[in-house]
Amino acid sequence: MAMANNKTLCFKCNEDKITYPCKGCSNEFCFTDLAEHKQILNDELHTITNEYNEFKQTINKQKQSPQNHPLIKQINQWETNSIEIIQQNAKDCREAVIKLLQKSINDIEKKFNDLSEQIKQIHKENEFNEINLSYLTNQLIEITEELNNPSKISIKEDSQSCINEISIILSKKPEFNKWKQNAITVAIGNGRGQ
Ligand SMILES: [Zn+2]
Ligand SMILES: [Zn+2]
Repeated sequence: MAMANNKTLCFKCNEDKITYPCKGCSNEFCFTDLAEHKQILNDELHTITNEYNEFKQTINKQKQSPQNHPLIKQINQWETNSIEIIQQNAKDCREAVIKLLQKSINDIEKKFNDLSEQIKQIHKENEFNEINLSYLTNQLIEITEELNNPSKISIKEDSQSCINEISIILSKKPEFNKWKQNAITVAIGNGRGQ
């Protein structure tokens, strides 16, 4: 009287044993290996739980200090870079204008020295009339104007920006709906759908 063969190959030890199915991985395990299999799953659950707890901490951190978010850091970096570009442009322009001003002031000074010489001459010779006075007055007005507002140098602001403009783009993808749908699919697959 042969005993009914109710034995199956165990997935773990690879021996013919009385086995128990695991619905999760669809494998058959002997009693001993089923316990071990369950322990492995327990450990995995433990690891995943830890990861979830870590994620909770990450969420709390972001809630407390949203200014540390990578997007904010990206804006900060843009700000720093743009300021650097602006400061470099301003520095270059200042240096160029200072050089031009020095040349302009030197030219004016030469003209002034020449006019001063003419006044000295007039004092010395005591020879002058209204035409000389008018000339000297007008020349002084002219060089004063040139000193305060050099006719050859001016600042032009270009409407085309030297920095990259930034703006915030909000994608219209319904990300949250997609996640929700995936979650339901997974739940059904595990056989514990709600
Ligand atoms: Zn086994
Ligand atoms: Zn399994």
